[in-house]
Amino acid sequence: MSSLPAGRWSEVARRTGLVDAAGAVRQTVFAEMTDLAARTGAINLGQGFPDVDGPAHVSRAAVAAIEAGHNQYPPGAGIPALREAVAAHAARHYGLDLDPDTEVLVTTGATEGVAAALLGLLVPGDEVLTLEPFYDSYAAVIALAGAVHVPVGLAVEEGAFALDVQAVRRAVGPRTRMLLLNSPHNPTGTVLSRSELEALAEVARDHDLLVVTDEVYEHLTYDGAEHVPISTLPGMAGRTLRISSAGKTLSFTGWKVGWVTGPAELVTAVRTVKQFLTYTSGAPFQPAVAEALLDADGATHAYVAGLAASLAARRDLLCEGLVSAGFDVVVPRGTYFVVADAAPLGAEDGARLARELPARVGVAGVPVSAFCQDGTATSAALASRVRFTFVKREAVLREAVQRLEGLRRQGTSGAR
Ligand SMILES: *Cc1c(COP(=O)(O)O)cnc(C)c1O
Repeated sequence: MSSLPAGRWSEVARRTGLVDAAGAVRQTVFAEMTDLAARTGAINLGQGFPDVDGPAHVSRAAVAAIEAGHNQYPPGAGIPALREAVAAHAARHYGLDLDPDTEVLVTTGATEGVAAALLGLLVPGDEVLTLEPFYDSYAAVIALAGAVHVPVGLAVEEGAFALDVQAVRRAVGPRTRMLLLNSPHNPTGTVLSRSELEALAEVARDHDLLVVTDEVYEHLTYDGAEHVPISTLPGMAGRTLRISSAGKTLSFTGWKVGWVTGPAELVTAVRTVKQFLTYTSGAPFQPAVAEALLDADGATHAYVAGLAASLAARRDLLCEGLVSAGFDVVVPRGTYFVVADAAPLGAEDGARLARELPARVGVAGVPVSAFCQDGTATSAALASRVRFTFVKREAVLREAVQRLEGLRRQGTSGAR
């Protein structure tokens, strides 16, 4: 597959593990599991995208925008209607006060927002703290920026993933420049509590850190879990870039319309980079998302509330099935995902189990080690865990749960 000599691979390819020491291209675990699921006919609970599209009133708005001629480059910062809708949404939900002209930037999904924010604000050698496990694009973009990734582990305490704030404090050093936070958190499904966020805000203020937040699951929380943007805490709005997107909220993950909001100087820094990454994107999707965020008739609110309620029910279905198949689960309070521990099944190596599952029972997941840095204590502590998504139709989840039951019948022998 690879024809480049080992020495020609970029630092990023090397540091993110995309090539091995000899220069051979390694498939990501995500691609590997998706291939494996396709080859074995397994139900793919590895990749987190919905198998039912978002609301028809929003897709109709995109179709109408195409037919009305919104098909050429929109303004680099995003169309004014969408920037205004993003600001109005932030005011309505969180009481944030944003100037749509200077404090809102539309991006090609949250992914580009994170990339442009890091490339715009970091210099080589800066250290960036993230939670661990972490969303896979973070490590790659930190490497692209020439910065140093310092992950701080989440640990299971009393049946929930919790943050050790003292560990965050210990991880801060003279080169620390940024906290890159993600809540509701992929892959663990934890929703950082107000007190955890207050402690993180204090660390940021004490050490004059920038904070970048990935809040793409802001509306997908369960059991009354409250999502608190850290930018709403005292002294934080001026140092925080908040990133979200339409993909998860509206079940249109392929539209790739996201946004970055925050103080004008920081947003300008992101915009200068975004200009040369994609310049602009999603012309007909921007007016459709603007309409959805403004939600003049309440239809989007009703859709999102219904989606969260149905996801909570599907979460319960999958969690109960995993437990009855012999896994331990940490019940998530947000996102599309549940992390299941295979140790009670006798499987200590989640990566190995994930590779075996499609052929053994016809279900695919992703090992949590794929979201960790190699060799960290957290990576070792979470080695027996596998992430499964529940953003699939109930019938699909029922079938997956039934298949997973097969693990008990097979016993643990193959899992060692
Ligand atoms: C899905 C996801 C994204 C990607 O968002 P896009 O808007 O599709 O770019 C970013 N962060 C997290 C944590 C995600 O789960």
